[in-house]
Amino acid sequence: MLHLPTVIGLSFILNLLIGLFFLSVHNYKKQSAFLIFGLACIAFSFAELLACLKLILNFPFITSYLANIFIILSPFLIILGLHKYKYSKPLNLRPIYYLLLFTAVVLLSVYPYSAAQMVTSFIIAGLYLFSAYIISTMSFVATLQKKALITCFLIHSLLMFVQTVLLALPILSLSETTYLEPLELILSSHLILATCSALLLPYLLASNTEHTLASIANTDVLSQLFNRRGFFIKGKNALSLPLYQNKNISLILLDIDFFKRVNDTYGHEAGDQAIKWIAQHVKSQFLNEEISARIGGEEFAILLPNCSLSDARNNAEELRESISSYPFYYEGHGINLSVSAGVSSTINGEQTIKELLANADKRLYLAKETGRDKVVTYDEKSLLLQA
Ligand code: GH3
Ligand code: MG
Ligand code: MG
Repeated sequence: MLHLPTVIGLSFILNLLIGLFFLSVHNYKKQSAFLIFGLACIAFSFAELLACLKLILNFPFITSYLANIFIILSPFLIILGLHKYKYSKPLNLRPIYYLLLFTAVVLLSVYPYSAAQMVTSFIIAGLYLFSAYIISTMSFVATLQKKALITCFLIHSLLMFVQTVLLALPILSLSETTYLEPLELILSSHLILATCSALLLPYLLASNTEHTLASIANTDVLSQLFNRRGFFIKGKNALSLPLYQNKNISLILLDIDFFKRVNDTYGHEAGDQAIKWIAQHVKSQFLNEEISARIGGEEFAILLPNCSLSDARNNAEELRESISSYPFYYEGHGINLSVSAGVSSTINGEQTIKELLANADKRLYLAKETGRDKVVTYDEKSLLLQA
């Protein structure tokens, strides 16, 4: 059997600390969801404190009524916090307030009796079930922890329903027993589960924030492709996969031809839109395992894992043709754009992405030197001039 005073003590301290942690996060993030999560944890600790006062104080209004109100307030606040975190827009809180008010009135009429505990158990069983539902509809990067939190909420809800039934049986005179031992075990589990949920929640939120920051750092704002940093990180990750070991890896490096003229003739905004237009072509052609990036001003790189040099050249040709086959329109002006490309290839592991890029860059330079609007896959200028 769990030692109840130890469980209560630990759960009180942990919930208080996690609550204060959420409040300090809110202090610098100014996101109200964190304030609400902090208050939920502190409400839980406070409820435990009030309930424990039963040992020294014979004042059920505080040790039963207020303790139950705070114990219900905790999952209420978790739900509100999750809503704020998920939707980040004003909520219609009225039904939630009405339910809280209704529960407070019901409890006020029964708080000196054991029915109060039964009502409280029933309400929080429903609230934990609803919390599990909300978490299941939210997207979290840490999927394992998300499943763990849903499981915590579901077990918690189930235990609270069982507690409701065990408390109801003697009240409804359906049983002579008072089920003291199972109820004590449920109480310990309730405290442990609430603490586990409070520990999992910041992990889930922090991993999402981390993921968002990482994707901002790796994404080019204008094209919404990877930026240079993202290209190298994602490229290295992809090439380390067992799937691509000893496979042909190719790289296409693309540069818009005479791009300065676009800026000079139509303005910088037109240039920006043209970059977006090219990025759209890249995105619509490379939808699968390829890693596409805008690695410089008007330079794009596409890493093609498991792709031979000739297949990569065909891909580059297709892209080049689709770009030059119809004009880009800006404020009613049709602007003909073309691109030049250098393509390089290696067996995965023989060259780094940097070396592949350097080879593609040499070939891109040859494409520019020998007329533009073309794809080059080898290094001999003489062959190009003959072609
Ligand atoms: P080339 O055919 O030799 O590539 O000629 P180019 O005019 O494209 O020459 P270069 O690559 O040297 O010039 C690139 C220009 O792209 C220079 C710069 O003003 C412009 N540019 C770079 N980044 C951006 C951007 O984000 N927006 C806009 N509008 N222009 C950019
Ligand atoms: Mg250029
Ligand atoms: Mg350039």
